[in-house]
Amino acid sequence: MIKYIVFDFDGTLADTFDVIKNIAMSEYDEYDIDLESFKHLGAKEILKMVNIPSWKLPGMILNVTSKLRKNKDIKLFPGSIDLLNNLNKNYKLGILSSNSQEIINDTLKKYNIDNLFEFVYSESSLFGKHLVLKTMCAKYNINPHEVIYVGDEDRDIIAAKKIKIKTIAVTWGFNSKEKLSKEKPDLIVDSQMQILEEISQI
Ligand SMILES: [Mg+2]
Repeated sequence: MIKYIVFDFDGTLADTFDVIKNIAMSEYDEYDIDLESFKHLGAKEILKMVNIPSWKLPGMILNVTSKLRKNKDIKLFPGSIDLLNNLNKNYKLGILSSNSQEIINDTLKKYNIDNLFEFVYSESSLFGKHLVLKTMCAKYNINPHEVIYVGDEDRDIIAAKKIKIKTIAVTWGFNSKEKLSKEKPDLIVDSQMQILEEISQI
């Protein structure tokens, strides 16, 4: 039985795509970075397209991530608040993200929804998000079978499936519906309302 709904933050609850796009464009204007088209492509295709040497990429990602972590004015998607308030009636809620704990907590407080969450777990691992999910389950004493992870990127779905956590993919974030469908999430949704309507089928 599902007890926990754990959310990814950026692109899932928080509308940060444009923030990231602007950071990437101003930091790396020597490359033709079209983040919109990245939504549909795989990592290899993206590298080919932008002509960035692959050894440069980890440093670039770290740089953009650290700039994102300093951004104080993060907006949640309009439907996020209703969704969380409704889910909170039947489930325990959590957040797992590589964004900073401080920024997530500040954002939740700003929207007055910090009390809805059992935990906010912030960690990034170079060895993959599935290990972070595993550590999260151990830390909060959660059985992976009792969790649904909600994310906006194909790597969220891949990571959760690796450790047998059920998944909901949302199509309003960083990856297109086509890209997400390939990883066969348990549910794929185009609106927050659809999660409320269909979550009991998982
Ligand atoms: Mg995300």
